[in-house]
Parts: sequence; structure tokens; C-alpha cells
Amino acid sequence: MIWPALTAFAKAAAVDTHCLAGIDRRWTTRTLMPEGDTIFRAANTLHRALAGRAVTAFESMFPSVTRIADSHRLVGRDIESVAARGKHLLMTFSGGLVLHTHMRMNGSWHLYRPGERWKRPRRDMRLIVATADIVAVGFNVPVAELLTPRDLARHDDLRALGPDLLDPAFDRAEALRRIRAHGGDAIADVLLNQRVAAGIGNVFKSEVLFLGGIDPFTAVTQLTDDDLETLIDIGRKVLAVSVRAGQRTTRGSLDPGARLWVYGRGGQPCRRCGTPIQSKKTGLDARLTYWCPRCQSRSTK
Ligand SMILES: [Zn+2]
Repeated sequence: MIWPALTAFAKAAAVDTHCLAGIDRRWTTRTLMPEGDTIFRAANTLHRALAGRAVTAFESMFPSVTRIADSHRLVGRDIESVAARGKHLLMTFSGGLVLHTHMRMNGSWHLYRPGERWKRPRRDMRLIVATADIVAVGFNVPVAELLTPRDLARHDDLRALGPDLLDPAFDRAEALRRIRAHGGDAIADVLLNQRVAAGIGNVFKSEVLFLGGIDPFTAVTQLTDDDLETLIDIGRKVLAVSVRAGQRTTRGSLDPGARLWVYGRGGQPCRRCGTPIQSKKTGLDARLTYWCPRCQSRSTK
């Protein structure tokens, strides 16, 4: 059964009707990790579907989550909100309990009507948050914990997150300060660091640096405050546009072959100058960085 509200969302977001966060199949070969825009959209949709409803059943494949859900009587509490913090998803229940999940590469949340057939096999289920009318199912979610208000206040990863680029109250001066604290590092690595600013993943990293005209391997110390503020502003803009468009785009186009400037286009001509796009594996996890050597030739103050 198709649920009208979700169908409308799916059209707007161009994702599978039920798949809210994680890998959009059409992107699987290129986009390995959900970035801030994906999680932000998923949080909004989960919030609209679940906020204000009481939990009627809860299931988890994480023993520690199950234990806390039982001891704190999660069933019967209301879902107050679902929100994104960077790439983290926080579902808050009445009384201040928070279900924290992180999708990493493969996790996703789906919404179903009770009794509706799932689009993923039961063995992939990691979490179920059921209400009378809607059931949220987390598939292959690799990170989940149920936090008390006290746990949340002490949570190292969440506390350490940098300003969220999609937060209306984003603190640019603080983001700039955090970037400067990594002076010797390449700007591409720093933009990806969620403790500096939350929301940019590997795709937007390459795109933001192209739009800023900055060589990805430039050390932060070589860049002016103006350069860095411009990169931050570009990052906020492309994330916000992608959230609104429901698809990751940095060129204003929703055509799958024309949405991005450089990411995934190694060896192809630059859309601006025709020079072949370069790519290089960097970092411990050997993620690919893409750039145009001509458009991004400025690398020093
Ligand atoms: Zn170029």
C-alpha cells in the first residue's frame, strides 16, 4: 500500500518511497556514504511521520539498546522529535531518552504501515520503532545506542561535533576557528572532519573545493580567512540546495549526468574549462578526491 504523504515526499526527494536514509540505489556506484543532506532529509521525514505518536512496540538487535529500552520502559513513551546532527540521527522520546543512530555506509530507515511488506529482508533489520499507524524500521544500521539525558550530555562523539552546516544557527566563526586548528592539514581532509564542521562528506568535499577554486591538497595555513569563509559558505549553500532539491546537486541540475562538477568524473573534461578531471586516493580509507588542475590551480595566499 502506498501512503500518500510518503509518496509526495518520495517524489520531492526522488528516493524510494520507503527508504529515508542511506544509499539511494541510483547512486550506489558513486556515492558510498550518506552526507549531511541525506540525513537531514531523513530526519525531517521521520519527524513528520512520528513526532507526537506513542511507541507501541520496540525491537532491537543491539543487546545494550534492548536492555536500556526495557529498563527505561521505552514502549509507551511519545516520540518527541527526530533531528539530524551532522550525519547522526537523534530520535528523542518523552522523558529525554534518545535513540542515536549513524548510517555509515549501508544503514537506512524505512517507514511502513503496520503489517505492510518490508522492502528489505528480515535479517537486515536492526531496529523497529512502532506506533499505532506507522512503523519505522532501521535496516543494517551499524551504530545504535539508547542514551539517557545524562549519557547524551557526556557523549564524546556528539559533543565533539563541529557546527552543523545545515543548522540555521550555524556558527561560522567557530567553524573557522576549528579549521584553523588544523593548520598543517590539507583543506580536503579538514572539510571532511566532522569535528570541524558537520555535514560535508566525500562528494561535497570535492565539489565545494571546485566551486571555491582551491586545490584540495593545499594546507590550511596557505589559505586566507576569506578563502575559508567562502568554502564554508559554499558548503552551507550546496547542502541546503540539495536538501531542497531532494537530490545531491551542486550545479542546479537534477539530470543524473549533470548534477556534479567533478565528483566521479575522473578523466572526463572539466565542465568549465575542458581539462581532464584528476582523481587521487587519500587518507586512511583511501577515499577519492576529484579536482580540476586548471580551475583549482590557486593553492597559496
Ligand atoms: Zn576546469
